Amino acid sequence: MATVTHDQALANARHLLAGQPAAALAQAARLWGTDVDAWELLVRHDVVRALPRAVPPLEPARRADVGGGMFVCGDHRETPSIQGALASGVRAAQDVAAAVGAR
Ligand SMILES: Cc1cc2nc3c(=O)[nH]c(=O)nc-3n(C[C@H](O)[C@H](O)[C@H](O)COP(=O)(O)OP(=O)(O)OC[C@H]3O[C@@H](n4cnc5c(N)ncnc54)[C@H](O)[C@@H]3O)c2cc1C
Repeated sequence: MATVTHDQALANARHLLAGQPAAALAQAARLWGTDVDAWELLVRHDVVRALPRAVPPLEPARRADVGGGMFVCGDHRETPSIQGALASGVRAAQDVAAAVGAR
C-alpha cells in the first residue's frame, strides 16, 4: 500500500479546495443547516501541522508511567483528538493514584 506523506495529503487537500469556494459553502450549509446562497467565502486558513502525526502502526493506550516518578499524558499517547487526550489523562491519573497508593 502506498504511503501518503503529510505534505502530500495537505497538497491534495489544497488542490481539491483551490478555487472552489463552493465546496466550503456547501460544507457550511450542511453544518449550519441554512441557506448559504448569499454567503461569500472571505478567507481560508490552512492550519499546517496542527495535529500530531498518526502514522501506522497506531499505538493507542501508551503507558503514562515513563519511569523515574514521571507520568505523561496527552493526545500523543493515544489518538490525536480530544477523546485521545482525555483517555490518556484518565490513564495517567489512575497510574499516579496507583503509584501513591490511593484508591
Ligand atoms: C485547529 C484544530 C482543530 C481541532 N479539532 C479537533 C476536533 O474537532 N476534534 C478533536 O477531537 N480534536 C481536535 N483537535 C485536536 C485536539 O485539540 C487535540 O488533540 C487536544 O487538544 C490535545 O490535547 P492535549 O492536552 O494532549 O494537548 P494540548 O491541548 O496541545 O495541550 C498542551 C498544553 O501544554 C502547553 N505546553 C506546551 N509546552 C509546554 C511547556 N514547555 N511548559 C508548559 N506548558 C506547555 C501548551 O501551551 C498547551 O496548553 C484539533 C486541533 C486543532 C489544532
